[in-house]
Amino acid sequence: MRIVVGHLYPGYLNIYADRGNIAVLDQRAALRGHELDVRSLGIGDPVDPDAYDLLYVGGGQDREQALVAPDLAGKSEPIQAAHASGVALLAVCGGYQLLGRGYGGRDGSFMPGVGLFPHETVAGVTRMIGDVLLECELDPGEKHQLAGFENHAGRTLLDPGAAPLGRVMFGFGNDGESGLEGCRLGRAIGTYLHGPLLPRNPWLADWLLAQALAHASGTDPQPLEPLPNTLEAEAFRIAAGRARKRGGRR
Ligand code: GLN
Repeated sequence: MRIVVGHLYPGYLNIYADRGNIAVLDQRAALRGHELDVRSLGIGDPVDPDAYDLLYVGGGQDREQALVAPDLAGKSEPIQAAHASGVALLAVCGGYQLLGRGYGGRDGSFMPGVGLFPHETVAGVTRMIGDVLLECELDPGEKHQLAGFENHAGRTLLDPGAAPLGRVMFGFGNDGESGLEGCRLGRAIGTYLHGPLLPRNPWLADWLLAQALAHASGTDPQPLEPLPNTLEAEAFRIAAGRARKRGGRR
């Protein structure tokens, strides 16, 4: 199958090499005989809600976010339509914040967001930085741990009843207080976990691929052929160990 990915603002939102996540999806799709067709979506480019199987937005600091925010908010309708029709989505950090209702800066400014995720973000005084370990259950009965790295000043507050991506075992998460990290809405995932998130968490890469393939083929998500994941498991082990050393939930 061909999986079409719409990569939003690759030139602006790519902090900590977030685009490495795309390389992982590409390789894991290819190893199962599928082809990833990645198309950049920049400022002024229209989003055709029927053209993609997966949308991807990386992270960026407030400055980069401010540069893309008005354009991204203008793409709200087609992004929400794509999500409603079963397109998968992964949004990281700055992108995650802007996929919610918006981001309030320390200077009183407010960047309106897409309004897809049921949350709002406000910048705090301190930054929440370090390795993170989460426990996730995206499909009932299937528990997985997710290891990553966070670095954000924004505190994201999920609306009551909204589903997080996972529960924080070690680290800060959305706001440092709720014990929740990220947001999950159908086939859309938003998270503060940066950079090489998918290389060390191959189960999440495969979950996203399965959702994108389900959209491409018009079927329910199917299990993917297992891969050895030897290096990936080692990368996860090291990252999870660093998060554990950090101590209890912050
Ligand atoms: N505005 C963000 C913050 O909370 C940006 C974080 C990021 O993408 N690293 O700091």
